[in-house]
Amino acid sequence: VELPADPNETNEIRQVSNALFSYVNPTKPADPKLIHASESVAELVGISKDEIQSESFLNIFSGREILPGTRPYAMCYAGHQFGNWAGQLGDGRAINLTEVEHNNQFFTLQLKGAGKTPYSRTADGLAVLRSSIREYLCAEAMYYLGVPTTRSLSLMLSGDEVLRDILYNGNPAYEKGAIVCRVAPSFIRFGSFEMITSRNELKNLKQFVEYTIKQYFPEIHGEPTEQYLQFFQKVADTTRDMILHWQRVGFVHGVMNTDNMSIHGITIDYGPYGWLENYDPNWTPNTTDSQNRRYRFGNQPQVAQWNLYQLANALYPLLNEAKPLEDILESFINTFDSDYKEMFLSKLGIFTSTETDSGLITDLEENLQLSETDMTIFFRNLNRIKKEDTAEYALEKIKDAFYIPEEIANNVLDNWITWFSLYLKRLETEELSDEERVAKMNAINPKYVLRNYMAQLSIDAADQGDFSLVSELYSLLQKPYDEQPEMEKWFAKRPDWARSKVGCSM
Ligand code: AMP
Ligand code: MG
Ligand code: MG
Repeated sequence: VELPADPNETNEIRQVSNALFSYVNPTKPADPKLIHASESVAELVGISKDEIQSESFLNIFSGREILPGTRPYAMCYAGHQFGNWAGQLGDGRAINLTEVEHNNQFFTLQLKGAGKTPYSRTADGLAVLRSSIREYLCAEAMYYLGVPTTRSLSLMLSGDEVLRDILYNGNPAYEKGAIVCRVAPSFIRFGSFEMITSRNELKNLKQFVEYTIKQYFPEIHGEPTEQYLQFFQKVADTTRDMILHWQRVGFVHGVMNTDNMSIHGITIDYGPYGWLENYDPNWTPNTTDSQNRRYRFGNQPQVAQWNLYQLANALYPLLNEAKPLEDILESFINTFDSDYKEMFLSKLGIFTSTETDSGLITDLEENLQLSETDMTIFFRNLNRIKKEDTAEYALEKIKDAFYIPEEIANNVLDNWITWFSLYLKRLETEELSDEERVAKMNAINPKYVLRNYMAQLSIDAADQGDFSLVSELYSLLQKPYDEQPEMEKWFAKRPDWARSKVGCSM
């Protein structure tokens, strides 16, 4: 830890050396109001339902008061942004309040948007309602989809106005400020290790790696170098698992910089993320990446591997041997490819064997792009297909997924009929009955995801002081695999007005 010379200057912006965090106090919000809190996350960390409604919950999770006996801090980390070394970044608008232990599990509670820290660089340390709703809802939606992620405890209005360069009539506009409390085992990132190694602080590196292993990976034992490798292997494995889930549900992170990669293999930092609507591996929701599309949907596995390379480089000085790290990196992509195949086939309801099915996958991936086809609706509607269906009838059953039904003619139609014939033939060899297969598929292909326009509608209403849609989406997304007949309106293609709408980051 870095001890500030003057306790009144804890939030002063600076370069920090020989430390991985700085004590810092949240900025007191003008008039905080609780918009929503997650009862299940509260329970997870030992907060009761009644306590959520208390004055002290409001005060502590808005940054107005500091929990007695705790000392909030901001973490120092570096990172590669869009492939380039960016040097010191750090928690510019995140502040860790404390770590709690509950039911033998550790959780770090972190405020996002609670004011400047030593790492705020040129920015204000604040978050706007728009991006806070997006983060709050999406993290919880991901959790209930079964995707490893940080959790959201609370969403508050700060009562402050925040200036953002969204232009109205050519002028920067004020937006409502907000604060999210998010929860994770820790907020250590790949960039935390890159920070120390780039400063050549090798003693700190060893100490930090060993602390991380002891604290968060207690299952790792053995000789020190053996432990470092096991740690790296574990990060690679959990990261691969996370990316597989992203590809399964159609999630695009949008800013996979190494400072946004958790060592726990959990999704972190919900900024300009988006969900695939029409299936397009080249799509990215991040407008600042529209040229290179580095973080496009189809590139996420490769980027994860590239990011792991940077972590390997940061750990290398402890090992002085590249080969074992390289082996782990190489097996990352090989294992990913076979896991991806298995995952993709499971979305199709093919569980018996993965042999000789690659054509089924690649042909489908091509067909889905021939004409705009909604990923979520397509895969979900496969649950309507029966083994004895004809290809024509099967196609009829999924046609709600097509954005422009008139386009499904001529050669596009031929491609689909060919694929469905192949698919139905393959289904015949499945041992499961239609009912059994569908039950499994329905737990893999979600019915409800947080489409970009849905988040936007809840933001527009919230801006007018109506938070009912935030609550509605929150409860909808707690059961993404269930049929919810009264919520059927959210099982629909993106409306036309939302066609090129992208996520937002600030
Ligand atoms: P991100 O791309 O959101 O992960 O942010 C990259 C870096 O910019 C991190 O160090 C953030 O803490 C910092 N940052 C982003 N937004 C702000 C803000 N409004 N105020 C201060 N720092 C910020
Ligand atoms: Mg970040
Ligand atoms: Mg961010």
